[in-house]
Amino acid sequence: MIFRCYEFTGCGGCLTALAAVNPKEIHRKLKVKLYSALPEASKIKESDVSIVTGCIKREEVGVLKKIREKTSLLVSLGSCSSLGGLTYYLSLKEKGDRELYIVEELTRVDVTIPGCPPDLKDITLKFKLIAEGAKPLIEKTNVCSECVYQPQKPVSFKKERTYLEKGSRCLLEQGLICQGYFTVGGCGAKCPMGNVPCYGCRGPVNQFMSHIFMDFLQDKFGLNPEEIIEETKYYLKKV
Ligand code: SF4
Ligand code: SF4
Ligand code: SF4
Repeated sequence: MIFRCYEFTGCGGCLTALAAVNPKEIHRKLKVKLYSALPEASKIKESDVSIVTGCIKREEVGVLKKIREKTSLLVSLGSCSSLGGLTYYLSLKEKGDRELYIVEELTRVDVTIPGCPPDLKDITLKFKLIAEGAKPLIEKTNVCSECVYQPQKPVSFKKERTYLEKGSRCLLEQGLICQGYFTVGGCGAKCPMGNVPCYGCRGPVNQFMSHIFMDFLQDKFGLNPEEIIEETKYYLKKV
């Protein structure tokens, strides 16, 4: 069984996460090949599973289509490939024009594994399911459901991203903007467990929960629409 992993336009963090995957934990006959330099479309080989990371440039669309053609199952890994994420945001800010695409705008995606970078345990779990013939779905639960705390009403809003002492309370309650409420779970609430607010890297569970959270930021924290956009700009919306 071969999993081929291709890095398009990103920071390299997703490929680094993939390099840490132990193939033996997934399937005894699994080979994982990483392509940090994108091959020409004519050099793309057949594979059981292809994993794509990063956003897609216009000139890379042909390579992506060839990967789709040569694979049984296509996985979009990381928030850049599934949401646009940091790469899309920075490119748009710098160039003013849209130059990047997410994978599902260009071709059919079978499995999405979000995260910036994606969580190693989550990748291993989903790859195991894929190797067994399943198509794991994106979580419907939020980060709060994996957190030892429970979201509470904040006392006051703190603009700074304070790193707090461990083992205290829900970060929202302490006045920090933790986006766990509307963010897709699956990472084990990694950031709040380290007392760092969730910045929403796995994307929104759904638009309804995003709107509830935005109203909450407006009502309880007194944020104006520009400040809300500033807080949620990287991962809230698909491009
Ligand atoms: S999702 Fe995050 S870690 Fe992966 S390529 Fe994009 S910026 Fe880098
Ligand atoms: S700390 Fe963050 S993730 Fe944990 S319960 Fe509070 S809002 Fe949710
Ligand atoms: S807690 Fe939030 S920001 Fe941290 S890894 Fe999970 S989804 Fe991403």
